[in-house]
Amino acid sequence: MKDFQLQGLPINQLTNKPINQLTATFAPFKKNKIFMAIISLGSMAFDAIETPFGKVDKIVGGSGTYVAYAASHLTQPIQQISIVGNDFPEDEISELKKRGVQFDGVEIVPDQKSFFWSGKYHLDMNTRDTLITDLNVLANFNPKVPESYQNAEYLMLGNLMPILQLSVIEQLRKRPDLIVLDTMNYWMAIAMEDLKKVLLKIDVLLINDSEARELSNEYSLVKAAKKILQMGPKFLIIKKGEHGALLFHEDKVFVAPALPLDEVFDPTGAGDAFAGGFMGHIDHTKNISFENMKTAIIVGSVMASFCVEKFGPQRLKEINRKDIDKRLSEFVQLSDFDISLV
Ligand code: AMP
Repeated sequence: MKDFQLQGLPINQLTNKPINQLTATFAPFKKNKIFMAIISLGSMAFDAIETPFGKVDKIVGGSGTYVAYAASHLTQPIQQISIVGNDFPEDEISELKKRGVQFDGVEIVPDQKSFFWSGKYHLDMNTRDTLITDLNVLANFNPKVPESYQNAEYLMLGNLMPILQLSVIEQLRKRPDLIVLDTMNYWMAIAMEDLKKVLLKIDVLLINDSEARELSNEYSLVKAAKKILQMGPKFLIIKKGEHGALLFHEDKVFVAPALPLDEVFDPTGAGDAFAGGFMGHIDHTKNISFENMKTAIIVGSVMASFCVEKFGPQRLKEINRKDIDKRLSEFVQLSDFDISLV
């Protein structure tokens, strides 16, 4: 044990063992605490999804919807910026409002349809084909930051055209303490120059492993991270689906596992649920250090693990604080080990 004390690791006085760093940082989520706001820009949509386990023709989805449901378990308010048509269900809007999601920045277009996306997953569930993208209201989306959102502390830029992400940053009079950006290979292919401009203005980039390789032209994720961190972001999170996530910052790396699940029913929105959990934890703790981001990544992984258990955001609506805490401790167990050096 002495060695651990020498290394400066905190020691549990009861067991005389080093405290797992993650266990040490999980604070109980207090009700009635006053949080500053998170602005979340993202799509609110209808999706048609086919997985090896089933098919749905029209359910509520969209990157902004998943972020909002996930983050609202940890913090409020979520100041949503999005656009929907006349077909977006009233009860979905009421449900989100009940959870502290504000709609001042959501435009409802009376004579048009909401964004529609359809995808089909391959047998491994890690890859999918996009079958239909009907932009509908998204085609003319010009996000407006309402006055009531001007003091937000954190900004989550969900996967959308980089030019729209940039416009939201530029409309904010006070720069948020943390700007997180999600994007995808589609924008790298058609709007790389705009994407590069946004990268210069953000703090955290959230992408998956193939996107990191595409953005950097490097196969090694370590080399990719080095290059990407020179493109603007100070932190890079590389999501690896069922293999967890990596956090890079300066010369530091943290590896978070993903919970091995019995069944993955529908991976749609897992990345957005991850982002919502991550942002929710950051807002809950008001701490944007590398150390605290490690915990935020675990919280994000927990929300993603719930998201994939049912079609659409359904599971994110059903779970409560107890379910989240239980799964958080399962995550801690997953990678908590003592090692004796021989
Ligand atoms: P994810 O599985 O995390 O990539 O997110 C899936 C969600 O993103 C779905 O609910 C879709 O409605 C939404 N989505 C898919 N393509 C786009 C796009 N080009 N722009 C905005 N949202 C999209």
